[in-house]
Amino acid sequence: MSMTPSRRAIEAMTLGGMALDNRALVVRCYSCRRTRRFLAADLARVYGENQSPHTLFRRCSKCGDGLYVGFGFPQRGDTIRRPESVTKWQWRDEVWEPS
Ligand SMILES: [Zn+2]
Repeated sequence: MSMTPSRRAIEAMTLGGMALDNRALVVRCYSCRRTRRFLAADLARVYGENQSPHTLFRRCSKCGDGLYVGFGFPQRGDTIRRPESVTKWQWRDEVWEPS
């Protein structure tokens, strides 16, 4: 039995792999319940395709407590935090409208 994870399993653990599936990340604070959503594709462009989504978000920027990171797909009407442009990493909330 091989102990090497399949290529598919490795891809699923990186932002680049999740971006291929058009996934979204839901980041929720355990304490203050502050919730933000991101597109894996946006995060892959900012942090690199090989970045693991599990280690990207550690502490709530509001209260400093631990964060829950969940995975799903963006739904129409979701508020998603997106970068303004490729050269200027400022994030703003945007209502998701699939094209
Ligand atoms: Zn918090």
